[in-house]
Parts: sequence; C-alpha cells; structure tokens
Amino acid sequence: MKHPVTIVGAGPAGLTAAITLARRGYPVTVWEQHSDVGFRFHNDFQGLENWSSDSDVLTELRSYGLQPDFECVPVSNGVLFTPDGEELSLVSSQPAFYLVSRGSGGGSLDQSLRRQAEQLGVEIVFNRRIDKLEGQAIVATGPKGADILAAGVTFETSHDHVAAMVFDDTLAPKGYAYLLVHNGKGTMASVLYRDFHNSDAYRNACLDFFSERLGLNLSDSRRFGGFGNFFLRGSQVRNGKTYIGEAAGFQDFLWGFGMRYAMRSGYIAAQCLINGTDYNEQWKAHLRPALRASLANRFLFERLGQRGYGVLARRLSRHEPSRILNHHYQWSFSKRLFSGMARRHYVSKVKDRECTHEDCTCVWCRCVREGHAMGIED
Ligand SMILES: Cc1cc2nc3c(=O)[nH]c(=O)nc-3n(C[C@H](O)[C@H](O)[C@H](O)COP(=O)(O)OP(=O)(O)OC[C@H]3O[C@@H](n4cnc5c(N)ncnc54)[C@H](O)[C@@H]3O)c2cc1C
Repeated sequence: MKHPVTIVGAGPAGLTAAITLARRGYPVTVWEQHSDVGFRFHNDFQGLENWSSDSDVLTELRSYGLQPDFECVPVSNGVLFTPDGEELSLVSSQPAFYLVSRGSGGGSLDQSLRRQAEQLGVEIVFNRRIDKLEGQAIVATGPKGADILAAGVTFETSHDHVAAMVFDDTLAPKGYAYLLVHNGKGTMASVLYRDFHNSDAYRNACLDFFSERLGLNLSDSRRFGGFGNFFLRGSQVRNGKTYIGEAAGFQDFLWGFGMRYAMRSGYIAAQCLINGTDYNEQWKAHLRPALRASLANRFLFERLGQRGYGVLARRLSRHEPSRILNHHYQWSFSKRLFSGMARRHYVSKVKDRECTHEDCTCVWCRCVREGHAMGIED
C-alpha cells in the first residue's frame, strides 16, 4: 500500500500533482478552501502559452497523463497595437497559445482537472482552508499577494473571434492589455505592473480603446480583478512541505503566463515523490531556465518605454511571434547577465512578516526575509 499524500490547493498545480500520484496508486486528499475549483477566476479566458518551450503545450500535458478535454482553442493569428495606435497583425504557423476558460463553469480547465482527479479516486475536500499543517504535504495554494494585477471584464458580444493585445503604459503600465473573444463570449483586461490604485481607470481606458479600435460591443459585462505573485528561491522544500505552482513563485515574470509552469511543477513534484528523486534538482532542471529567462525579459521590457514597445511590436509582427518569444525564453549568456541585474533590481512586494521561525507549520509561509529579492537564489 502506497502512503497517503496530502495536497493543499485544488488549482492546476495541485490537481496535476494529484492526478499523477493517483495514477500510480497513491491515495490522495486535496484540501480546497472554496466550495468548488476555479473560485479565484470568473470563467474568463486565459492563454495557455505555447512559446516558452519547443514542444507543443498540449503534447506536454498529454505526456503528464492529462486529457486536454477542456474548452481549448488554438490561436495563431491576432492583432497587436502600438502606443501610437498602429495596428499590426500577428501570424504564427503554430498556435501561439490555446485559449482556455478559467473558473467553476463547465468546460473550464479547472473543472476538467477536477473531473480527471476524481475519476482516479482523488478525494477533494472542499470548504476546508488549511493554515497549519504538521508533517509532509504538497503546497499548491497559489499566489499570496500581488506583484502583478489584472483589472478586467467578461462580457457577451456579437463578435465571433478576436485575439488582440496592446502595449501602452497609459493603458497598462509596464504590462499589456488583452482582448479575447470566442463564440460571442469575451474577456478584456489591463495587466498592470505599477499604479495598482488606479486599476479601475486603466480597465475603463482599455474598454474605450478596444471599443473604438475594434468596434467592440458589450452586453452582460461583469468586472473582475486578479493578481499574481512571483519570486524564486533556492529550495522549494521546507519543513517537509513541497511547494509547487504560484505558491512556489513559479510565474512568468514577463507577462504572468503561469498555468504551464503550475502544471509542470505539479507533475515534477509528483514524479519526485513516486521515484524518490530530489524535487529541487528537478525543478531547477525543468523550470528554472525559462523562469530566469522570463525575469531577464521583464527587466528588458520595463526599459523599453513607449517607443521601444513600438519597435518590439513591429518585430513581432514582421516575424513569427511564437518563434521570437521562444528564442527569448531560452537561457543564454545575455539572459544570465540581465537576470543577474534584475535580481538586484526587483524586490517582491509580498513579504510574510508574521512568520519567520525555523520550524513553522504555516502552509503559506515562505519565511521570506525582509528585502528578499524577486530574482533567483542559486
Ligand atoms: C486575471 C488573471 C489572468 C491570468 N491569465 C493567465 C494567462 O492568460 N495565462 C496563464 O498561463 N496564466 C494566467 N494567469 C495566471 C494563472 O492563472 C496562475 O499562474 C495559475 O492559476 C496558478 O496555478 P496554481 O495551481 O499554482 O494556483 P491557483 O490557480 O491560484 O490555485 C490555488 C488553489 O489553492 C486554494 N487555496 C489557497 N490557499 C488555500 C488554503 N490555505 N487551504 C486550502 N486551499 C487553498 C485556492 O482556493 C485555489 O483553488 C492569470 C491570472 C489571473 C489572476
């Protein structure tokens, strides 16, 4: 009989770990604080990125034993606006990303993972928030605070299919705004890295922008907000707890595309438990290069300014965007240089001030030191 495994958090990271373990005969219990999966989301569209590694992301998920039977639309074409209003088309020969829905609704990524886990006998205990936990567990509790903020709206529209993005600090400071429409359902958001207090104003400005530029008409619109948290530390195993997904700070520093890293880290953590291999070694081999490259990318992106965004947008439009992005997620000498600079530059806004002792049992506690760098500890 395999020993039982406890997982805290039923997001993509926790459920991927649960599915992998259950497939190998481990009894798995997942504790989830909400009454259903996907509660943090609003049945909004997100992009499962397909550029940070050479293999197609759906092939990668299948290799983990996951069935991509959720609503999942390949997106190869889109439009990108520059700060001076130029509209550029983006065309990739491969899907740049897959549009998926996140939340408790039918067809969402979250519901699909829940169903797959439960079919394998995983027990998901809802409405149970776990703050303290003795002994071993996998912690997949998602972000603890906001290093990045999204202010968005979901809606219905007469448009059929749109994928649009804009780089402009007056709409999304140091970030971007996106519009995704599929079969008359849409999501628009401003993704901010600065000036969080004015998120409502940025949301409204983005709505005006897309309405004017793309003739977007909305009905049944609902506002939503969300946040993300990134940091990287040397060890993701503390006091018997293994950290995965955004609870481990595994996020795309450049633009916040964290789903792929969440699921990959869940799979890796489960495999390490099954095979008795070292999780720190494995995530460093399979996640760290792209994460570090994304940190360097963020450092560089923030230095572009409005004119630089235009140059980047035109470059993405002239060439295959997913190829260019893929190139920028490879670990190289220049990425090493810039991630080193970035590491000194960024300090995560999220600090766990209350709990810094050696043997704490807090599931969320990262025992982060004051001034802990957002960058990489080697
Ligand atoms: C608005 C928005 C848009 C985004 N867009 C994209 C995108 O386009 N592409 C992309 O790749 N990523 C995107 N992301 C990021 C992506 O959603 C996350 O990186 C991903 O969901 C992280 O997965 P996770 O499993 O680590 O955490 P989560 O999805 O946050 O799941 C954590 C789970 O743990 C539960 N939990 C937390 N604390 C406890 C506790 N103490 N006890 C019990 N349960 C607990 C939570 O309720 C939750 O269900 C977006 C995020 C936001 C907010």
